[in-house]
Amino acid sequence: MALQSLRGTTDLLGETVHQWSRVEHTARRLAKLYGYSEIRTPLIEDAALFLRSVGETTDIIQKEMFRFEDRGGHEIVLRPEGTASIVRAYLEHHLDKNQGFAKLFYLGPMFRAERPQAGRFRQFHQYGAEAIGSSSPWVDVEAITLCVEILRGCGVASTDVWLSSMGCRDDQRRSAEALRKRLRPHLGKLCKECQARFEKNVFRVLDCKNPACHEIAWDFKGSPFLLCDACTAHFNDVRQGLKGAGIAYDDTKTFARGLDYYTRTVFEVRAKGLGAQDAVAAGGRYDHLVEELGGPSVGAFGFAAGIERVLMAASGDVKPADAAASRRGVYLAIAQPDLTGEGFRLIQTLRSRGVPATMDYDSKSLKAQLREADKSGCQFVAVLGAKELQEQTITIKDLGQGSQRTVRLASFAEEIAGPAKASCHSS
Ligand code: ATP
Ligand code: MG
Repeated sequence: MALQSLRGTTDLLGETVHQWSRVEHTARRLAKLYGYSEIRTPLIEDAALFLRSVGETTDIIQKEMFRFEDRGGHEIVLRPEGTASIVRAYLEHHLDKNQGFAKLFYLGPMFRAERPQAGRFRQFHQYGAEAIGSSSPWVDVEAITLCVEILRGCGVASTDVWLSSMGCRDDQRRSAEALRKRLRPHLGKLCKECQARFEKNVFRVLDCKNPACHEIAWDFKGSPFLLCDACTAHFNDVRQGLKGAGIAYDDTKTFARGLDYYTRTVFEVRAKGLGAQDAVAAGGRYDHLVEELGGPSVGAFGFAAGIERVLMAASGDVKPADAAASRRGVYLAIAQPDLTGEGFRLIQTLRSRGVPATMDYDSKSLKAQLREADKSGCQFVAVLGAKELQEQTITIKDLGQGSQRTVRLASFAEEIAGPAKASCHSS
């Protein structure tokens, strides 16, 4: 039997790749607009990085990491998320000393050994942003705004932004006590895992995917976090700033982010109509992580969005791309095989002017070439025959519009690329 891709992984090809590129392009463009510069970190990291940052009691550490030993006995992990790697890189490249505040954007695959299902994969992809080196609530406001703007730009229009503050470490200790008190009467009804979480990290109960636990936690209504004055002030500033930026949010939901490193502001963006896996993006403030990974005590904020889920959420909102308008480039068809050399010279001229161009090298019939041209997604098919070559002309057909014209061979490239433009694909 032919080999197949692993469960929970996907090949991307055809029109899907165009959709992905559009999301990646939108995310990159907007992140840059907001002053974030791109960073690319390795897909493999020292296991200790995640053990020290994400938190021992989290799903990621307990059951989702792809972990292996290399031949030298080092514990390696396929990265399950981006934040820890980026903080490591921030410190490794002395961005703390050289620039202090850094705004970094990333995009790429993440790996989690989860049970594959709709919207949940083992290799999935995230784009995300991390602003490291500031405790200002404006950093939170700016990053949440960027997160929502990218989603809008990708065609995810109907979203709910859940906003909360998990407070500082002291607040979290007090809030954990209070939450345990409220949950204790229901302890017997919680799943086995949540009974363990109850002692170790009670907030994880709020995040449990088990319906029974979910129901109990959800009955509590409102934030489970008790905030000190400083955290209250910070949260008020964030809310004020978001209002000013026109970002609607819901701060009445009972939720906590699953990872240990979060403090103060946390948020999740849910897309309508995605079913159980409706979280498209999430993030928050992590004011101790840089220090915990050996750096200075500075605040930071970040978010990540799952590209697969963004595309699932966008598909309902965005009309499929206009097939005629998305056609690009030229398919050069030749009437007989001995024109291959001449044809190749012509497509090279087009390519040198930035026009995507392709042709057949296998002596296919003209009819077969025209069929292939139509399937190829090219905007034009140009037909070169011996007679045309002698007359120094060529016929160009616009496959999107169906129109056809014959032009001089000498001006072929200009006709296609446009006399003033160096390229016909200026995206
Ligand atoms: P979930 O609650 O759905 O498991 P999460 O809290 O584990 O999500 P984060 O770690 O916050 O997710 O990652 C941010 C985003 O990455 C999520 O909102 C989601 O869009 C995406 N994501 C996370 N895990 C997966 C996965 N296994 N497959 C596809 N996308 C994922
Ligand atoms: Mg998860």
